[in-house]
Amino acid sequence: MTATMPTYARAPLSFERGEGAYLFGADGRRYLDFAAGIAVDSLGHAHPHLVAALTEQAQRLWHVSNLYEIPQQARYAERLIAATFADAAFFCNSGAEAIECAIKVARRYHAENGRPERYRTITVQGAFHGRTLATIAAGGNPKYTEGFGPAVDGFDQVAFGNLNELRAAVGGETAAIMIEPVQGEGGIRPMDAGYLRGLRQAADEFGLLLIYDEIQTGFGRTGKLFAHEWSGVAPDIMAVAKGIAGGFPCGACLATNRVSDAMSPGIHGTTFGGNPLAMAVANATLDVLLADGFLANVVAMSERLKQRLTEITAAHPGILAEVRGIGLMLGLRLAEGHTNTDFAARLREQGLLCVPAGENVVRLVPPLIIGPVEVDAAAEMIAAVCAGWPSDSDHA
Ligand SMILES: *Cc1c(COP(=O)(O)O)cnc(C)c1O
Repeated sequence: MTATMPTYARAPLSFERGEGAYLFGADGRRYLDFAAGIAVDSLGHAHPHLVAALTEQAQRLWHVSNLYEIPQQARYAERLIAATFADAAFFCNSGAEAIECAIKVARRYHAENGRPERYRTITVQGAFHGRTLATIAAGGNPKYTEGFGPAVDGFDQVAFGNLNELRAAVGGETAAIMIEPVQGEGGIRPMDAGYLRGLRQAADEFGLLLIYDEIQTGFGRTGKLFAHEWSGVAPDIMAVAKGIAGGFPCGACLATNRVSDAMSPGIHGTTFGGNPLAMAVANATLDVLLADGFLANVVAMSERLKQRLTEITAAHPGILAEVRGIGLMLGLRLAEGHTNTDFAARLREQGLLCVPAGENVVRLVPPLIIGPVEVDAAAEMIAAVCAGWPSDSDHA
């Protein structure tokens, strides 16, 4: 019995301190952190620039609410829109809230443009958009919807990657299409540029808005500031969170002017969102992400890690079936008969932390500051787990 609600299957492990890509456990061991708080600790632990920004702001002012002007928020919004397709940003505290905002903005856009009947959003199978009532309905995963009453209305789901099915699902009530450029929880499933172009084309043709959920893929995770930049296909609305402030809770919904013009004072809001403390840390995180060479390192480390993972997978085809993903958002799919959770537990015993995902995948989402030493150490631990795997008959 514990005093916390039994909503999590926690690993029997806690930490006392973190530094860079490493966590120091209460068990006295050092762990290489390729979980990064589920792709959140983008700059690793205790990054000096973030610690300085946080402590400096903490001594001045934490929270005032959006009843007042917040210069840190205005500045951060200006920097974000300068770096993206967007013209305006709304700040909140989590990914699910950012998606809620995206859905609301899309509906409001159509209502303001004389089409209030357009309220439905098309999503794709394997999606994950959060755990609020609307976002579980959007995700459509029965594991998350069962037992929570009637689903929030307004979501239609189609097969991943099938443009014909998507176009056929568009109706008079459709407002938007919402996708993750790389599905995260769904098992590290990238969407190719052709598919994204097809979504953009369908959105334009039918007068719909294209929403990207870049909560996990954003802020350098894939080697670009945002994953959709690899395809060059911009959305109308984008939800972000996870890596935005290096571990400080924060989220944002970005949109073009055409869309954000549908919003007006009083129709949406949040108490905590965009407060001075969160914005100070978000600004500091962006300083580092935009620094010369930062994203190039993500790409270089990704190539190195992918290469090593491909070699290990080839050497152990009975255990590992596939390496997939972009940047430092990589997945190892376990071969049939093995489970990702067992594999993750063994990696943890070795000293490497990772995150299980859908389709029997183990997710490797390290801090973006890793270097060759961390990549090689992780690869060695993965190889060691494969070599010691009980039923592995593949290794020599
Ligand atoms: C984590 C995640 C969310 C939900 O974010 P929370 O901060 O947990 O509400 C939504 N979409 C994607 C793609 C995510 O990875």
